[in-house]
Amino acid sequence: MPDHTSAHLLDKLVKHNRLKSSEWASLIENEADLYDLARKMAQEIALQNFERKIFYRGIIEFTNFCQNDCLYCGLRKSNHDLKRYRLTKDEIIECGKLGYEFGIKTFVLQGGEDLGFSDDKLIEVILDLKSIFDDVQITLSVGERSFYTYQRFFEAGARRYLLRHETADFTHYAKLHPEAQPFWHRITCLYNLKKIGFQTGCGMMIGSPNQTTSSLVQDLCFIQDFKPEMLGMGPFLPHHSTPFKTQPSGSARQTLYILALVRLMAPKILLPATTALKTLLPNGYAEGILSGCNVIMPNISPDWAKPNYELYNGKLVNDLAQSISKIRAELKTINYQLVSAKGDFQG
Ligand code: SF4
Repeated sequence: MPDHTSAHLLDKLVKHNRLKSSEWASLIENEADLYDLARKMAQEIALQNFERKIFYRGIIEFTNFCQNDCLYCGLRKSNHDLKRYRLTKDEIIECGKLGYEFGIKTFVLQGGEDLGFSDDKLIEVILDLKSIFDDVQITLSVGERSFYTYQRFFEAGARRYLLRHETADFTHYAKLHPEAQPFWHRITCLYNLKKIGFQTGCGMMIGSPNQTTSSLVQDLCFIQDFKPEMLGMGPFLPHHSTPFKTQPSGSARQTLYILALVRLMAPKILLPATTALKTLLPNGYAEGILSGCNVIMPNISPDWAKPNYELYNGKLVNDLAQSISKIRAELKTINYQLVSAKGDFQG
């Protein structure tokens, strides 16, 4: 039976959508007792808000060049084993057309911080996509940029931006990133995005090297204060060409538990069941949904590019028709379905 006091904290979270640090710590420490209850409550809340409908977004991995050197990432500039590529504007538009044929109404333009792909070029891509598809939403995931650049992206028509905060514990942040990538800059970018009006997504990995209960508590406190419209959170998975290559993967169970806590904190947040979770757990999408997730993000990049966008070991690579039909089949096992919709945040 769940410990009475900690179980009471789940009710408190649902009621107030926030907790004190000590209360978050108690929930994290009592995962073994509260796992089933938290997930059941999270699924209930997701059902109330989204019924049995799951939004799907098409990720276009348009460049794997990156000027940064995050210690956990296969795209880091020090990884010289990686074959680098950049898609042309026409190739990106082709990806959009393919995704659209499959009912995808959000394109997520994702890339490293690639100075070789200029802001002007990206703005041209956004404008073209918006003029070809008048009922799609554009999400960007291209890292830390200036306020001015974010504003230009917004003016071009992008309306969502994903920038994981990675960890809200600045000492932990410094263990995951080189000195040239300070914590304060990441957080400033997130607040700038919100200020401009983007639906903003932050997020972290579960089980990243040196993560502690205190780091996770700081993450959850940051999320309840920042109030993102989206949250990307999956397990840490090591990549063979990074300094963390021998580190163990994060736990799928802990990921599912923290996802459930996030859903209890933020009933309407757009919460993907991530590809990283699916990589670790064969039925990871279904399990994510049973923890309150309501988004899945299939990859609509060209098949030749997919193997070169390897953020971590074993990243799944399927063609689009195959992935969508597998996702539909997995969702059917729990009686959920994909819906073709922009799926904006409804706060
Ligand atoms: S996590 Fe992002 S910013 Fe860091 S190295 Fe990878 S692609 Fe670049």
